[in-house]
Amino acid sequence: MANQDDQFKKVISHAKEYGYIFQSSEIYDGLSAVYDYAQNGVELKKNIREYWWKAMVQMHDNIVGLDAAILMHPTTWKASGHVDAFNDPLIDNKDSKKRYRADVLIEDYCAKIEIKIEKEIKKAAKRFGDAFNKEEFIATNPRVLGYKEKIERILLRMATALQNEALEDVKLLIEELEIACPLTGSKNWTDVKQFNLMFGTKLGASADSAMNLYLRPETAQGIFVNFLNVQKTGRMKIPFGIAQTGKAFRNEIVARQFIFRMREFEQMELQFFVKPGSQKQWYEHWKKTRLQWHLSLGMGADNYRFHDHEKLAHYADAAADIEFKFPFGFKELEGIHSRTDFDLKAHQEHSGKKLQYFDHDDNTNYTPYVVETSIGLDRMVLAVLSNALVEEQLENNTTRTVLKLPAVLSPIKAAILPLVKKDGLPEVARNIVDELKWDFNITYDEKDAVGRRYRRQDANGTPFCITVDHDSLKDHSVTIRHRDTMKQERVAIKNLKTIIAQEVDVKSWLMKM
Ligand code: ATP
Repeated sequence: MANQDDQFKKVISHAKEYGYIFQSSEIYDGLSAVYDYAQNGVELKKNIREYWWKAMVQMHDNIVGLDAAILMHPTTWKASGHVDAFNDPLIDNKDSKKRYRADVLIEDYCAKIEIKIEKEIKKAAKRFGDAFNKEEFIATNPRVLGYKEKIERILLRMATALQNEALEDVKLLIEELEIACPLTGSKNWTDVKQFNLMFGTKLGASADSAMNLYLRPETAQGIFVNFLNVQKTGRMKIPFGIAQTGKAFRNEIVARQFIFRMREFEQMELQFFVKPGSQKQWYEHWKKTRLQWHLSLGMGADNYRFHDHEKLAHYADAAADIEFKFPFGFKELEGIHSRTDFDLKAHQEHSGKKLQYFDHDDNTNYTPYVVETSIGLDRMVLAVLSNALVEEQLENNTTRTVLKLPAVLSPIKAAILPLVKKDGLPEVARNIVDELKWDFNITYDEKDAVGRRYRRQDANGTPFCITVDHDSLKDHSVTIRHRDTMKQERVAIKNLKTIIAQEVDVKSWLMKM
């Protein structure tokens, strides 16, 4: 655990030091669980968004985009169920006065059992050496099976209690498991209460005529209320999808995990409208497709797993998370939900407007079913950053800090470095910048020894450093250094664009899907 905590702290301080993420309103001591993206962070985030958008919208002729407003008519949230049911169970510790999400306390307890399982696996792998069969060990070892059974039992009981609104049983479970306040160790808990996560605001100038609104807690509803507009104007035929990226707001009870759980965050969502009865097939399709998207970034297949939900939300007939191994363990990165016809039917009922589709293929009229894929852009930033940050031991007994970002996502693709600040080298370097900046985000750096500049770019995640030296004046070549391997090669200036494009081009990455 200590190592994991250390890694997480390093990610947070690196993100600040290298201009990725700052605490919001820092000069006023910050605003809890709200963050700003700095010069590098904004580029990383934009690149992830674009990588998603290209895969989801540009590559599908039956998926179109949308950018709905954050403010929506308040009835939207009545219809969607958020006014009545967008709650988290909260519990306070009477001694430490700290507030927690009751379900998260229980899930964290289970995560500790998971760590015990991982330890057993590691021990056995060591003992058996090459003969070790991990799958078989997990499936047969009595201790591992015991741990797994315990986790399942706890999660099922929690899910049932939450589903039945039996909050007293959630508290009982916390007491029975002897879960203590992580900060103080106290087991003196209040009852569990429900807390609505929506942020309220007002529309209109005068107090009496103002209309109560909510900041949207998810982007999905903007898609549902526009379903018919898009279908008709885009002449879309089922199955088809509407994709959207944008801000969502949740007044989270506990938000202590940097950009993992924020109060203002960005989602990237697809709502895919299908014929009733075909939802199961599309649900499986999107589970698979979304995992492939993640894997195409090369961040390690072992770092992902599916978690099929025991407790289904009121609108879903199947749901799974794609979990990623964050520095604090496997946690939800993306949700894939088979939302049935719940949302369209609810909006139809509350608005009195028909939200149906006429299927010309078999002359039927129906309310489409929906399969949703919903990923938090900020969580993706965190996944990418925490996976990329490594400290490498070098042969000369020094270490280097490298941000091994997938090159397609790197904020800056190449740094152009004149070896010295004189003899016409800066001019050549500037010319290279002027040529390449039409295609890539490029930086110029002439300060400090070139070795130090390399390290700076390594820590920034820049995949290429391009050094202009005295020979460049004669042979029109430069030295290109690769971030991950530190290999250097001599290449013609005129070939730079092709060399960089090969590594950072969205197409070559998405083709791996
Ligand atoms: P959690 O269980 O972690 O609260 P959720 O199941 O409520 O998440 P969804 O409503 O399914 O999340 O939202 C879809 C995605 O939006 C999540 O997979 C996550 O990546 C992201 N997300 C949700 N809440 C937050 C938040 N407070 N901060 C950052 N990202 C979030």
